[in-house]
Amino acid sequence: MTFTGDLYNVVGSTYDPKHVPGHLGESWKALLISMGIAASSPCYVTNDPAPPDKSHPAFSVGGHMTVQSDGSVPNRTCFLMPLCSWHNSTSRDGIRFTHTLTQMLQLTGYMLGELAATFQLRLPSDAPYALLYYVESAQDWRFKDLYEHDVTAWAQTLADAGTPDLHVLIERVQAPDPQHIVRSVSLPGFNAPELARF
Ligand SMILES: [Zn+2]
Repeated sequence: MTFTGDLYNVVGSTYDPKHVPGHLGESWKALLISMGIAASSPCYVTNDPAPPDKSHPAFSVGGHMTVQSDGSVPNRTCFLMPLCSWHNSTSRDGIRFTHTLTQMLQLTGYMLGELAATFQLRLPSDAPYALLYYVESAQDWRFKDLYEHDVTAWAQTLADAGTPDLHVLIERVQAPDPQHIVRSVSLPGFNAPELARF
């Protein structure tokens, strides 16, 4: 979609489970690119000049943006657009950003601080299941759509993770309302490895 209005950083969107500075947002960046935003796009911010030794105008991350100056996300709806790490930092929270590039993603149903993988797996899909899993080598959570015939042998369908120690198998239920039901889980400290049998 296109959006021309002034925007602010979403406050609380930068929770980083890996504590690697500048790393969070790479998967949100990938989502932007997969939806048609050019990887060669610059950071969209045209006001609020960055010091010359900073990351601007690199497209470092997919930055979560809101029309609310306090950084809140009304109705779980915000925008995602290319940002440099400097403009994405919490030190820029509350700063009004103007932009001349207007193609961005509108995220509906976004939960504050969530991972790109968990947001994406809730998007409409024909696949009745989704597996959320942790890739140790990438230190990142990913997801894969699964069909009925994949479910009992999902480990063999993952090219990038072997059999991941940490995973959550989720069933997408469409009726009467869209729901996401955990069917099996393997997480530290969680003592219900099988919630349902297939
Ligand atoms: Zn920037």
